[in-house]
Parts: sequence; structure tokens; C-alpha cells
Amino acid sequence: MSRLVVISNRVPLPDKSGTAPAGGLAVALQSALEERGGVWMGWSGKSIPSREKPGLNIQEHGKITYALVDLSRKDVDEYYAGFANRVLWPLCHYRLDLTEYARKDMAGYFRVNRLFAHHLAPLIKPDDVIWVHDYHLIPLASELRQMGLKNRIGFFLHIPWPPADVLFTLPVHETIMRGLASYDVIGFQTAHDVENFAGCLKREGIGRELGDGLFEAYGHVFRADVFPISIDTGAFAQAAQNSQRNAMVQRMHKSLGDRDLIIGVDRLDYSKGITNRIEAFEHFITNNPASQGKVTFLQITPKSRSEVPEYEDMQRTVAELAGRVNGAISAVDWVPIRYVNRSIGRNVLAGLYRMARVGLVTPLRDGMNLVAKEYVAAQRSEDPGVLILSRFAGAARELDGALLVNPYDIEAVSNAIARALSMPLEARRERWNQMMPHLLEHDVSRWCTSFLDALAEHGETGKPRQ
Ligand code: UDP
Repeated sequence: MSRLVVISNRVPLPDKSGTAPAGGLAVALQSALEERGGVWMGWSGKSIPSREKPGLNIQEHGKITYALVDLSRKDVDEYYAGFANRVLWPLCHYRLDLTEYARKDMAGYFRVNRLFAHHLAPLIKPDDVIWVHDYHLIPLASELRQMGLKNRIGFFLHIPWPPADVLFTLPVHETIMRGLASYDVIGFQTAHDVENFAGCLKREGIGRELGDGLFEAYGHVFRADVFPISIDTGAFAQAAQNSQRNAMVQRMHKSLGDRDLIIGVDRLDYSKGITNRIEAFEHFITNNPASQGKVTFLQITPKSRSEVPEYEDMQRTVAELAGRVNGAISAVDWVPIRYVNRSIGRNVLAGLYRMARVGLVTPLRDGMNLVAKEYVAAQRSEDPGVLILSRFAGAARELDGALLVNPYDIEAVSNAIARALSMPLEARRERWNQMMPHLLEHDVSRWCTSFLDALAEHGETGKPRQ
């Protein structure tokens, strides 16, 4: 079996005891790497003064070599905070109003991808299979090809892919499309993303669809297909069961009393629809006076990307809104919204999901949304809660037992909350049974294997499959 080489912006490095960090994706990729041997490369997370030469730090853990690239302050500002998170992230989440097309950031993005290729190429053996992850590293394959590498290279995009009219506002969209077309297999989260990508190829006459998931562009034949990412469903369900012994989960249970719990869990990000959700909850409480004092909404929102100004602004907006709503509808013995602005460990989260009658997952746009899958996996089969899910999350394509909502429609979300809280046991079980077997079968290790199988099956690089 060929070695596997994984490249992602950040690398989940094992701690001193050799234990890999928890998290479905890290565990799945780590076990594929353990099985086949290989390399995981990414940014070290360090930014060094711009006058120093960025180094490469190599660490061996078992059969895996970790290669960590240092970046300069300028690299981090332009490649990461600039182009990746102020251009590609908002663009792929359909937020043209938030994109900042600065030439220096575009140049920084391509420069850092070249730097990664430069560090990676000497570590690659002719048989290695290379798997690149996410929007930070789209041009990596074309950089490696320019250096003469003939290996199979796959790419997985964890976030949505936008329609042509949105993508074409990006001044360097052609270079980005050319970069994607240099891969052998491109994985997207949903069929909708593949359609958008095919639309981008067709609109400018860049490429054509050959059928059976194959495309040709810039003289290169590649597969673009759907590989919905998932969680380690069995392990997560087990964690939820075990969490009942956890002290923090027990404390939450006690503080809840006989109130119903509604839970939301999202990184602080404008794509997650947190303000719309708080407004929908306020609407629900205001229009259902009988629920006053009987429901608690727990919104867990760790800070993220605080170096990007939009995220700093959001930090203030959400905190103010939660405060205003609590001020308006609280009673002396009841605070409706508990807003937790820090990260909670997975085992505790699993227990909180299990306690919640409603999982409220209403992103305005999301590649997949693993929280939705975790909420379902954490439920008790004999008395499961109800998932309310945005139709604009990739997960909505699979989780057909959820109450699907338009997150922009505050009244519709408020009605869905009312419906979920009053749903009879039989209907809840039916809905949960529609989803859980699918999640058990389509877990993260299956996602990993099906992508790598597709890459292995792809014909010789750049040529149509025989
Ligand atoms: N998460 C966590 N602690 C928190 C909040 C979130 O461990 O306090 C985890 C959550 O369990 C999930 C991931 O972060 O596995 C979020 O993934 P998702 O696909 O929902 O959103 P993303 O942050 O990748 O956009």
C-alpha cells in the first residue's frame, strides 16, 4: 500500500505521551496514516519575525512524520488572516459583502503555497498518495506539478463551493480554478457544491463534464465528486452515554431542574447564524407565553479568528444581543439564554447534547456542520430529542429526520422550536431512527476510505480513465 501524505493548514500534533488530539477528522486521518505510514504537513501555528528565514520542524511519532512549517508574521497576515479568511471563507459562504480583495494578500496566499510545496517536495516518494485539505491550500497541487511531481494528488474542500456569479467576483478566480483542476480527485461536501463547481467550469468555457464524475479542464482529466464528511458516530454515542458521570454535565442537569434545554454549539462565525437564532428564540418565548420559565437556551460559542476584524465585531454583537434579550424576557428566577463564550470539551458537549430536547443548528451557510451529526449521535434511542437544522447546511442533505428550516425566516425557526418541544415521543423516535443508522454506517472512517479509494482508482494522472 502506498504511503499517505496529508497536508492541512494546521496539524493535530500528538501530545508528549503520543496521544493524538480528539476529534473525528484528526483520528480518522491519523489512523489512515498509522496504517500506511506517511507524512502530515502543515503550518506550525508560529509566526516568526519577517527577517528570519522560516524553518521546517520534523517530528516522528510511530509511523507518522509530522512536518511543521513556520511562517513569518507577513505570511500569516496575508495568507491566513488575509486571503484565506477574508476572501475565500466569506466568498465560499456567499458573503460578497465581507470579502476584501487586497492584491498583497492574494500574492501572500500563492507565495505561502509555494513555500509549502518547496518544503514538501523533498519528503515525497514516487509512490506516495497526497491528500490536501481545504481552502488554505488550493494552489498546492499546481505548485507541486510545476516542480515535476507525478504523484496522485487529491483535494478535499471542507467548506461550500459558491456559484459562478459569486466566484467570478474574485480577481484571481482563474488561477484558483486552474489550481483545482491540477488535482486528480476533488472532494466536495454535497452534490450542490459539485454542481456549482461544474457551473464555474462551464460558464467561462474552462472545462467540460465527461460524465461519471469526470471533468476535463486545462488539458487535465480529474474527478469531482461528493464525499460528505462525518463523525466517529459509534465513539461519540458512547461518549454521550459515559458523560452522565461527568461532574460538569451533572451540574448542568441539576441547574436545569425540570426546564427543557435547547442547545446551540458553534464557533463564533458569521456563517453560523447565531444572531438570527437568538432572535428566533426571543420570538418563540414572546409568542408562547406558556413556555416562559420552562425553557433554557444554552448557546456555546468559542471565539475564533479574533485577528480578523469581522470576528471581533461579531463578538460584541452577539454578546449585546444575548444580553438585550435576556434583559427583556428574564424573570427574577429565570434566565432564558445562557451564553457561554468559550470552548467546551467534547465529552461534556456530548452529555449536554444528550440532555437537550432540541438541537438548534441554523447556519446561514455551512459546508457540512458536524454539530448536527453529533447532536443526533448523542441522543438516547428510547427518548431522543429533535434536531432543527438549516436547509443551508451540508448536513441537511443527509439528515432527513430533522426539522429543516430557513434560518433567515425568524418566524419559521420560532415555529419549529414550538413544534420540536411539543413533538410526541413516537414521532421523535421515528425521526431519530431515520438518521442514526445512516450516521453509524456513514461515519468518518468510511469518508476517509471512500476518498482514498477514489484517488487510488483514478487513472494515470491527467489522462482519461481507460
Ligand atoms: N466543538 C468543541 N467545543 C466547543 C464547540 C465546538 O469541541 O466548545 C467542536 C464540535 O463538537 C464539532 C466542531 O467543534 O466537532 C465544529 O464542527 P462544525 O463542522 O460544526 O463547524 P466548524 O467549526 O468546523 O465550522
